[in-house]
Formats: sequence, C-alpha cells, structure tokens
Amino acid sequence: MQFKTPYVAKIVYPSLVWDMPSNENKIYLTFDDGPHPDITFSVVKLLEKYNAKATFFCVGENVQKYPDTFEFVKNQGHSVGNHSFNHLNGWKTDNDDYYLNIEKADEIISSKLFRPPYGRISPGQIKHLKNDYKIIMWSALSYDFDARVSKEECLNFSIKNSRPGSIIVFHDSEKSKEKMFYSCEGFLDYFSQKGVEFASLNENLFFKDVK
Ligand SMILES: [Zn+2]
Repeated sequence: MQFKTPYVAKIVYPSLVWDMPSNENKIYLTFDDGPHPDITFSVVKLLEKYNAKATFFCVGENVQKYPDTFEFVKNQGHSVGNHSFNHLNGWKTDNDDYYLNIEKADEIISSKLFRPPYGRISPGQIKHLKNDYKIIMWSALSYDFDARVSKEECLNFSIKNSRPGSIIVFHDSEKSKEKMFYSCEGFLDYFSQKGVEFASLNENLFFKDVK
C-alpha cells in the first residue's frame, strides 16, 4: 500500500520531487517493484507502441533475479531508479539498515533516483539520502495495487489526476498486472490523443555531473 498523494507532505518536504514542470506537455510514467520477466517485458512493448519512455523503480532483489529484463529496460531507452534491495518500509526500518539496503541496491541498479517503498520515509532519512539521491515521489497514483479498486476506476483516477508535469505510479508486479495493463493502456491512449509526450525521468534533469 502507498498513502494517497499527501498534499501536506508536498509543503513539508520540498526537497522531494512530486511533479515536474508543466510547460513541456510531458507526463512521466513510473513503474514500481519490477523487474519481472513477463510483466516488465510486456510493459516495455506497450510503451513502444505509443513511443513512450518511462522510469522503472526497481527492487534490487528482482534485478538480481532477472538481470536480462533489467538490461532490456535500459536498452530500450527507459530510465531506472532505486526502490531499495528488499522493498523496505523506511518507517519500520532501522536507519543504518535502510541506508545499507539502498546502497546494496545501488550496486546493481546504479541510479541517483530513489523512490521510497510505500512512500514511507522519515525526515531524518530524507536528510541523509538527499545529498546522494533525488527522492522521487508522485503526483498521482493509479491505485493498480489496491484490491478495492476496479480496473475502470484505476483508469479514471489516473486520467482525472494527471496533467502535463505529472508523475504517475503504476506497478509492474504480479499483484497489479491486470489493472495496470488496462489502466496504463487507456492512459497512454487518452493522453496520446491530446498530444502529450511520455518522458522518462533522467538523472541529468536533477544532477549536473552524473557518474
Ligand atoms: Zn514499491
């Protein structure tokens, strides 16, 4: 579960990224919790159909299991980000363990973009991590992870809550796949027809000198 787009948190945590500039007519699709050999592969194929680029926040242990899928995502021109090695909840994890887990993921993901699993990260953890990573949150959730929400509702939420500059979250996971594919394709369809471009979050947008 992830908490709803926290309006107050945007004001309290200005160092986190919640959305991108709205003047470029771009929407930023993000996919969390992969890579998965079938699901992620099909997501990349779907994106290709719409000439869309996206950002995949990967879980380190999944990258370790499916290195070829991870390479495939990058080779297709998408960005990747760190989503910790074991999908840890920052609120329930000792700080040192949390940082080590992110570092371990960095060894195989090698990205300066980090998204905290469940959106749960403490102010102290933000302070510690923000020098090394750009912490990417979101403007809109698709709710593809939520068992109470139908796929049609996922699509409606996604469209209703997105506009140019939005960062939207989908999940390339077993649990979410049915709703994700339905709502993501509808989303791509809807905004393509409006002439919106789908762009990836590139490290260069946030860091001048990327290793
Ligand atoms: Zn996640």
